[in-house]
Amino acid sequence: MKKIISFLLIITTMMCLCSCGCFNDGNEPYKTSFKSFDTMCSITIYDKKTSDEYDNIQRNIKTACTKFNYSFDKYIPNSFVRNFNNTKHKIAKNDNYDILKRSIELSEKTSGAFDITISPIVELWGVNTNHFKIPTDKEIKEALAKVNYRQISLNGNNVRLTGGGSIDLGAIGKGFVADKLVESLKNSNVKSAIIDLGGNIYAIGSKKGKPFKVGIEKPFSNGKLIATVKAKDTSVITAGIYQRYKKKDGKIYSHIMDPKTGKPVDNDLNSVTVISKDATAADALSTGFMVMGLERGMALANSTDDVEAVFIDKNNNLHLTNGLIQNGREISLK
Ligand code: ADP
Ligand code: MG
Repeated sequence: MKKIISFLLIITTMMCLCSCGCFNDGNEPYKTSFKSFDTMCSITIYDKKTSDEYDNIQRNIKTACTKFNYSFDKYIPNSFVRNFNNTKHKIAKNDNYDILKRSIELSEKTSGAFDITISPIVELWGVNTNHFKIPTDKEIKEALAKVNYRQISLNGNNVRLTGGGSIDLGAIGKGFVADKLVESLKNSNVKSAIIDLGGNIYAIGSKKGKPFKVGIEKPFSNGKLIATVKAKDTSVITAGIYQRYKKKDGKIYSHIMDPKTGKPVDNDLNSVTVISKDATAADALSTGFMVMGLERGMALANSTDDVEAVFIDKNNNLHLTNGLIQNGREISLK
């Protein structure tokens, strides 16, 4: 009898543990981290979910990231972009079509400061690689002749590239994917979460009724924060010369290239953080504003709906768009 009772006790305890273990008590968020897009990514979910629901969400997110990475990475054999760069002509559908269309729109918006046909210049300098070199003026001139987003044509689903160039989605891909993950998480009834794709943040909803606080890094400070912004249903995306760069003879060579000069950006800015519900735009515009410099970038940011921005100049002074100044409480300086 005693044995039966202890057996039943064990079973009951196990059932209880299982049912308790299946729910998030709402205090500890669910976080999953993984490598994708050549950087560390994580998704943190603050909603109460069963572990089955959460596992499902996590699986969907990772599958989506693998799929997008496979399409958009120009270095992966047989990726959509790699094949397009080889053949200069492809049928682009769905997300492949959408990202190209948005890229062209955002190039127009930034008067070509953001330009996905920058790839030949990116390859020439190799700032993101271990074969970085300073090219000759002649090499720059030759590569620059291939850079011009107007050489991409979208005709129905036919996409073509003339001029012998190639494309690079490095400055828009993660933003585009963030928007797609937001859609997917919302479809799974997630109401409070942080998507972090290598520091490109999207805040879904708020945390315990209060907006999330997203940190803005102080350039060249090894991860120290210079400010925090309140974020609710918005992306917060930064482009900066301190992120991936090479240094030679004391000079910094940024991975952000100026499509006009064919050289790494070297102007009055260290970084630009864009806050927008549209992460695709925020990603491309942060890079575009970096290229445009403080005055032109700020003017464009101020005249664009659903875009606020924090420009950090060479002395690490902050310059805010009108919307952020007016709502001073939206940003706290450290
Ligand atoms: P990260 O990808 O590190 O977040 P960005 O969003 O600023 O940084 O993207 C930089 C990447 O985009 C570069 O590594 C390069 O591949 C590409 N790129 C560089 N300059 C430009 C530009 N002017 N327009 C479009 N893409 C660019
Ligand atoms: Mg970008």
